[in-house]
Amino acid sequence: PIDPNSDAAIAGRVAPLPIEQVAAKLAIPPEALYRYGPHKGKLGLDFVGSLATRPRGKLILVTAISPTPAGEGKTTTTIGLGDALARLGRKAAICLREPSLGPVFGAKGGATGGGHAQIIPMQDINLHFTGDLHAISAAHNLLSALIDNHVYWGNALEIDTRRIAWRRVMDLNDRALRHITVGLGGPANGFPREDGFDITVASEVMAIFCLAESLADLEARLSRMVVAQTRARRLIRAEQLEGVGSMVALLRDAFQPNIVQTMEGTPALVHGGPFANIAHGCNSVIATKSALALADFVVTEAGFGADLGAEKFLDIKCRQAGLEPAAAVVVATVRALKMHGGVPLKELGTPNPEAVALGAGNLKRHVENLRKFGVPVVVALNRFTSDTEAERAAVAEAVAPLGVNVHDCSHWANGGAGAEGLAREVEALAVTPSSFRLLYPDAAPLAAKIETVAREIYRAARVEFAPTARAKLAEFEAQGFGALPVCMAKTQYSFSADPSLRNAPVDHVLPVREVRLSAGAGFVVALAGDIMTMPGLPSKPAAHDIFVTPDGIIAGLS
Ligand code: ADP
Ligand code: MG
Repeated sequence: PIDPNSDAAIAGRVAPLPIEQVAAKLAIPPEALYRYGPHKGKLGLDFVGSLATRPRGKLILVTAISPTPAGEGKTTTTIGLGDALARLGRKAAICLREPSLGPVFGAKGGATGGGHAQIIPMQDINLHFTGDLHAISAAHNLLSALIDNHVYWGNALEIDTRRIAWRRVMDLNDRALRHITVGLGGPANGFPREDGFDITVASEVMAIFCLAESLADLEARLSRMVVAQTRARRLIRAEQLEGVGSMVALLRDAFQPNIVQTMEGTPALVHGGPFANIAHGCNSVIATKSALALADFVVTEAGFGADLGAEKFLDIKCRQAGLEPAAAVVVATVRALKMHGGVPLKELGTPNPEAVALGAGNLKRHVENLRKFGVPVVVALNRFTSDTEAERAAVAEAVAPLGVNVHDCSHWANGGAGAEGLAREVEALAVTPSSFRLLYPDAAPLAAKIETVAREIYRAARVEFAPTARAKLAEFEAQGFGALPVCMAKTQYSFSADPSLRNAPVDHVLPVREVRLSAGAGFVVALAGDIMTMPGLPSKPAAHDIFVTPDGIIAGLS
């Protein structure tokens, strides 16, 4: 039976507008719209290219406190705020990542918002959508095949098969594929070697897809990727395998930004979706820039909490793409702050304003951090039915000394109408003179960049580099990669590298065990802890609950 209160059922009660009508709200001409059925579209790349010289609207970043199992609702708030701005008569657009099938069938569920703040058609967007992730998987795996094929046919590049960094990808959670052996079965099948699968969203192709400004830039970045080393430790780049042209051919249509709508008909560009740990975790630059050329307000989300998501959005995406947010919204919930204040998950139902006030330390620190970038900040308190008045008041009171306003937001229950107060403040903040600055200059040494993020954002006492990590950073600098920004891969649950340290820990030590080069994406990844690039499924995966009704309706998605 279909649960009438499920996100799928709530979304199913709204009839979507024809996609032409949604596009018309942004004055997108019909000839620039590629239709994928009645409710999904893509923007032609000629049209996207023609937008480059237009004035840009205001970019609003939605980020959050450090996540807890209690949930925060960044995507839901991004959608609610976009709808609220539209209700106030503003030309608004939303930019989001496209969902991966891993979380859809795993623990987290879909990524299209919730309640009355969703993008639709949610089943389509959460499942194959317009096929972009499959195209990215195919492009990635083509390069994998070309590497093994090159070795098979004589290995003229002298690739050391023990030093092939390019794995294979698939858009599902499947822990059995993390470490595998390929090339078994005799000489006709190549040379056996260790390999493994990552989830597609962890592919460097995905990160590049989301940072490239044009097809030419996409090709140049794919060419630059380092995929292996020779025995003499010479770097092998993707272009040396001579298949980058084919990869771009596979990606050409996917590279067109997708357009869909919210339940209230606000246009949403949903395009690309890199991991937020070993990559930067936000939708494509091409979607964000297109939206900024078409709308006066563009609301976008960065993954994880602000220490990771917002920092990377600003120091990687905005740095590379020349973007500047006009304001940032920090999403918090009473439930999550209570957990930061020490209350266990199963006791969240009991009112506890003292714990909320204590846990607000996490929120305060994220607000202070965002101000280091010169971005005006406002807090969206995403209302849950279990919240009490006293608990909500405790949040506002706790952050009042910082001079930041807290808006009680009920978009999950009421749609855009529930976020109008937030929208009004965002509008006001967006016109204040901005003083946006990046956290560190390009010219700083790589280790110093990592130390700056650790000190300024995580409030770590120091960084402890593993000797091999330090040596590799020096090697990257010698190879000419020293000017790249750093992409921090750390647990999202804590400011520290220890996921159990909630709230606002200080004076911890950030261990950097390993560093990796993403030469095409244009960043150096610093791994502080074990980071999973191929997730597994939980004991009760969402895949158990999804089904198709006799009339062909996909149900059970959350
Ligand atoms: P995030 O983007 O921070 O990961 P989402 O916006 O995707 O979070 O929300 C995660 C889940 O929490 C969704 O299933 C959504 O329906 C639910 N949710 C969000 N806000 C609320 C709320 N105010 N009340 C109840 N459930 C909510
Ligand atoms: Mg989200």
